This record gives sequence, structure tokens and C-alpha cells, in this order.
Amino acid sequence: MIFEESDRLKSIPPYLFAEIDMIIRKKREQGFDVISLGIGDPDVKTPDLVVEELCRQAWDKENHKYPSSYGLKALKIAASDFYKKRFDIDIDPENEVLPLWGSKEGIANIAYTFVNPGDTVLIPDPSYPVYRIGTIFAGGTTHVMPLTEENNFLIDFNEIDKDVAKKSKLMHVNYPGNPTSAPCNMEFFNKLTDFASEYNILVCHDNAYGDIYSEEKYKPVSFLNAKNSKETGIEFYSLSKSFNMTGWRISFAAGNSNVLKSLGKYKSNVDSGVFNAVQYAAAAALENYEEFINENNRIYNRRRQNVWDILDKLGLKYYKSFNTVYIWVKVPEGYTSASFAKLLLDRTNVVVTPGNAYGKHGEGYFRISLTIEDDRLEEALDRMKNVF
Ligand SMILES: *Cc1c(COP(=O)(O)O)cnc(C)c1O
Repeated sequence: MIFEESDRLKSIPPYLFAEIDMIIRKKREQGFDVISLGIGDPDVKTPDLVVEELCRQAWDKENHKYPSSYGLKALKIAASDFYKKRFDIDIDPENEVLPLWGSKEGIANIAYTFVNPGDTVLIPDPSYPVYRIGTIFAGGTTHVMPLTEENNFLIDFNEIDKDVAKKSKLMHVNYPGNPTSAPCNMEFFNKLTDFASEYNILVCHDNAYGDIYSEEKYKPVSFLNAKNSKETGIEFYSLSKSFNMTGWRISFAAGNSNVLKSLGKYKSNVDSGVFNAVQYAAAAALENYEEFINENNRIYNRRRQNVWDILDKLGLKYYKSFNTVYIWVKVPEGYTSASFAKLLLDRTNVVVTPGNAYGKHGEGYFRISLTIEDDRLEEALDRMKNVF
């Protein structure tokens, strides 16, 4: 029997990384040694202390029961303490934190929680695909805010049509950003909350790379540092990238208590909260963040510099950012994002992500990810050096 997918599911393109995975698999089956610089998935292991806490908590039979959809108290307290220490922000652990099955889940479900069919959602372009796809699933319409190099990949609020702003319900924002790697500052976040307050828009800031920075002066601020931020929105803080925990599926949202209450209400109807042992382990990660964030950043600094050196030698232009695990590179004259990514794959068996996969304003770029062992990264760079 053939069961037809829902119109909702049929209306979206295949998930970008699923497609890349397939290309890699095919090439490997043909015997090629493919190196993927395509996906942002840390190669470095989760800190020992976090794994140990998971193991310890996994033996406690109290943790074998259904977890609460509204999260474990110990994690909410740890998240609140972390925001105080790391960003100097006061967060009420009871009402202003909500643990999630990763920020991807939260971003997708925030759409179901607040977006009605026909509602407009503002999304940056290029950006993480889930902002757009989550909106489409919920029946909303996206309006694109272009991120351009001339503007340091910051959203230009003056560019947003006033009539569009008036009817917009929600806005997704992501700094330091994927795929551009661009950071923002407090001035930007203050403009954001001004804009959101004026037009009554719920801001969802995705802080997935908030603790990946080369040195102190590039340490990102939080959206919740902005004035009125708790009135206007929430921030998703993911442990995936900063703590090498992508496989664990754990993050949390912090900020506006009413928004989080509604998101929790939605979640209570579709899931039952993250395994408590994982939430305890996440709490341990946040409590000890200073210990491993520095070491993690040292690894990325070394890799980032290596890639910059080779790109300089090749005469490829890129956006010089000291944040995130990505490098956003311009394709050479005469190529599109897709044709250059394909050329690179054909000639060197190195996979990069074509920029247009993150939206039409990503055309003309490709993204290199630094989440790969040093020797493999160097091998990939050697191949690029020898071929171009
Ligand atoms: C990787 C990434 C995420 C995923 O976060 P999870 O907590 O693993 O779901 C969210 N947003 C952006 C921008 C990312 O790059």
C-alpha cells in the first residue's frame, strides 16, 4: 500500500543535511575517502564530568519515571545560576526557564504554540532552516530579512516594510549566527527590542553559539542583556555546540514567563520532557562551564586560523569572525554556491555546504565547519591547496 504524505510534509524540501548525508554515503560506497566539512556536529567528546553525572543519575530509579514537561528543578536552577554568572542576568528558575529536547525542538514547537495559519513570521536569510520550516509546518508565512556583508550580516530593521512589521507575530534571530558566523553587540539587541516592542512581535533569539569565541573581547552578549528583553521574547540556549552534546538532545529557553508557560503547555501535549538523568548531566555541564569552554575554544581557534591561512593562500575571501564553528566563504568569480560545492566535491572529495541552502541570500557563499579532527581538517585543506 502507498500512504501519501500530508500536504504539510510534502510542501517542504528535503532536510538539507539529510541530502548531504546521502551524497557522502554514495561517494563512500564508491570507495572515495570523503571528508565532510559540511555539518556542525562537534567531534570532541562531551566533558567526562557530564558523562559521569549521567551514569550516576541513570542508576537512580526515581529518574526512570516520566519527566515533567516543564523541566527538572535542578536544571532550571543550574540554568538560572549559569545566566547570572555568564551573562549577569537574573532569571527566575521556576517561571523563566524551560528545558527542551534541543533548541531545534523548541524552535519548531514555538511556531505551533504561537503561529496561526496565515500569520507572518520574520526570519533572517541566510539562516538555520528550522525557523522557516517550523513556520511552514504551523501554516504561517515567512518574510525574509536579508543578511548582507555590507551590513555585517546584521538585520537592518529600517529595511523591514512597516505593513509587514505590523502584521508579524514572531521574529527569529541568531547571533553569533549560523551560517554567517557573524556576532552582534548590545546596541543591536537594544534596537531589536525597540523594534519588537513597537510592533508587538515575539522575539525568539537562538543562542546556539554563545560560548564559542576566540578570546575574552569576542565573548558574545545575550539577548536577555537587552532592555525590555523579557517583555519581548525568549532566548534558546543550546548545550549542543558549546558543550559538545549534540547527541544528548538538551537545551533550554529562558525569558518571558508567559511565552514559556505556553510553550510548556504545547509540549505537555506532545512530549513528556527530557530523561531526568540527562537533565542532571546538563546541570553539571552548566555548573562547570568555565572548566571546558576555554579548552574547547582553544581547539576551534587553532582550526579557524589554519583554515584562514589556507583560504588566504587560495585567494578566497571570507568573513573574518571570531565566533561560532563556521567560516563563511565567498565562492570564486564565475561559480554559484552549488557549482562550486560540486566542483570541490568532484575534485577533492571534500564536502562543504552551499550557501544558498540557507536561503537565497546565502547564494555566492559556502560554509566550512570546524567540527572535525585536526588531521582530517588538514588533509582536506591540503587537497584544496593542491587542486586550486
Ligand atoms: C546547531 C544549531 C541548533 C541546534 O540546537 P539543538 O539544541 O542541538 O537542537 C540550533 N540553532 C542553530 C543556529 C544551530 O546551528
